Amino acid sequence: MILFVEPTFPIPTKSKNHSNFLPIGLLKLASYYRKNKYQIQLIRGNKEADFYPKKIYITSLFTYWSVYVKESVSFYKTLYPKAKIIVGGIYATLMPEHCKEYTACDEVFVGQHEEAEKCLPAYDLVDVNYQIIHGMRGCKRKCPFCGIWKIEELSYKNATEIKKEICSNKLIFYDNNMLINPNIKNILSMLSKTIHNGRVLHCECQSGFDGRILAKKPELAVLLKKARFDNIRLAWDFAYDQHSEVENWISILENAGYNRKDIFIFMVYNWSFDYEELEAKRKKCFEWGVQIADCRFRPLNQTFDNYNSHLKQQTKKDYYIHSNWSDSLVRKFRADVRKHNICIRYKIDWNNYEKKLERINSKKKAINIDLCSTQLPT
Ligand code: SF4
Repeated sequence: MILFVEPTFPIPTKSKNHSNFLPIGLLKLASYYRKNKYQIQLIRGNKEADFYPKKIYITSLFTYWSVYVKESVSFYKTLYPKAKIIVGGIYATLMPEHCKEYTACDEVFVGQHEEAEKCLPAYDLVDVNYQIIHGMRGCKRKCPFCGIWKIEELSYKNATEIKKEICSNKLIFYDNNMLINPNIKNILSMLSKTIHNGRVLHCECQSGFDGRILAKKPELAVLLKKARFDNIRLAWDFAYDQHSEVENWISILENAGYNRKDIFIFMVYNWSFDYEELEAKRKKCFEWGVQIADCRFRPLNQTFDNYNSHLKQQTKKDYYIHSNWSDSLVRKFRADVRKHNICIRYKIDWNNYEKKLERINSKKKAINIDLCSTQLPT
């Protein structure tokens, strides 16, 4: 009897099943153990199970959410002292020693479970209308703020392998740098033609697309459109002086049929580039009429994050603040981005922005993208 636990991460209940937060690793493990005739249960939070488990797998997400993992380990240790508690996931993989000592678990699982990786996630344990697919793992690039290339080995799937996995009409790709896959043309072409349950597929990629690849192969933008990829995001992680390149990437997408206002530009802030640089980038995005997905940087070994957007002021004791930034600049940039996106969505001039639109918008848009691309769920 095996229990799978997702700690009580600070994810709003309404967003629990959002594709950004689904405990996909646990769902694959659950599927693997069920296939091997184990009785299994998934618990999202700290609650009593239907049986006394022999083993408990607890997932971890970002390193800065380690406290929630510790709480779960402690809860289940008290409840089931004879069970073996194993912690896996991103935090466990990036900081195994810290994880073992801090959470007091019995074992830390580093990396991916090879056999479980081959299993289709047990979607019946959660209530979702989409499927998550990994068309690749790892990344060839080695961006300094990113943990992906440290925690995942590089591997690619081809179109045939992906097609075999399809079991839904809505696919969310968890690929870190989807366009870098050498099989990408065949994959996109397969997705555009595949019919499942008598209907075509709709796709999304959780990460930003690499514009440098689009610039070399603009035909990929047309293939993305044909494969019905929505919610397109581009990554602009580096300096302002890259702006003419980024403008070209946006034009390539526009020429392929995407509407500018529906394109998001990922931007890492609270990092080496200071507020002025980020603000210059934001203003360029405004000029171009595209939205921004802001990612607040936290180092890969950051073990806490108590940032609270409702407070007026916090300090480095509460959350990581880069030496080029301050608490007030972090808050100002976030507020600017929020205003920026509303203005773009509603075609409002920056100077005519009204607060009440922000309120209307917050009701419509349940999920605000606040995921740091540097530690994405795997
Ligand atoms: S930020 Fe993106 S491109 Fe850079 S290493 Fe990470 S996944 Fe690769």
